[in-house]
Amino acid sequence: MSLKIPIETSARHVHVCEEDFKKLFGEDAELTYVHELSQPGQYLCKERVTIVGPRGKFENVAILGPYRKETQIELSMTDTRKIGVSGVIRQSGYIDGTPGCSLIGPAGSIELEKGVIVAKRHIHMTPLEASRARVRDNDEVFVITESYERGLIFADVVVRVSPSFKLAMHVDTDEANAFASDVSPTGAILKLFDGQTYSLQQWADEIQSGINR
Ligand SMILES: [Zn+2]
Repeated sequence: MSLKIPIETSARHVHVCEEDFKKLFGEDAELTYVHELSQPGQYLCKERVTIVGPRGKFENVAILGPYRKETQIELSMTDTRKIGVSGVIRQSGYIDGTPGCSLIGPAGSIELEKGVIVAKRHIHMTPLEASRARVRDNDEVFVITESYERGLIFADVVVRVSPSFKLAMHVDTDEANAFASDVSPTGAILKLFDGQTYSLQQWADEIQSGINR
């Protein structure tokens, strides 16, 4: 059975560890809750920071709570070009070997040696939804989008499964613009290769060497 998956766009944002937050906003500061996000427990904060790279900066960037173990900056590929850092695609939380940047807050600034990622597109779902869609945590799937005039099939979409998740696919602003996203766009997992996880890169390599599946 195919699931109709809401597609949500993540604009550039920052997750902070408590220690870095205190350096930016002061020893007595705390994250200020504004509203909940689609994933349970995640929320938008009132506090904003400036992200600075070698070639540019973004002011007034949202912080998402709660605190994380490590500070992480999520940008689109276009954003990384604008501030002059390399765009490294990663799943959230895997920041070893990623570029750094500076963050400026009202009470201070910090230099980060790592933490800037372009988030790998992904779907959040519950174990029940995963079993219905016949996918597992960390599978990579194709998603066909609902669109006007600019339909797109996304490859390499990683599935994340947890009982605490709510069904949603997360893309960044570049990806959303690429399929001219509607007000509330949706997608569905497209079963190619008998429903097996398959890498688009591998498929492309095969086609270019004359293997047609
Ligand atoms: Zn997400």
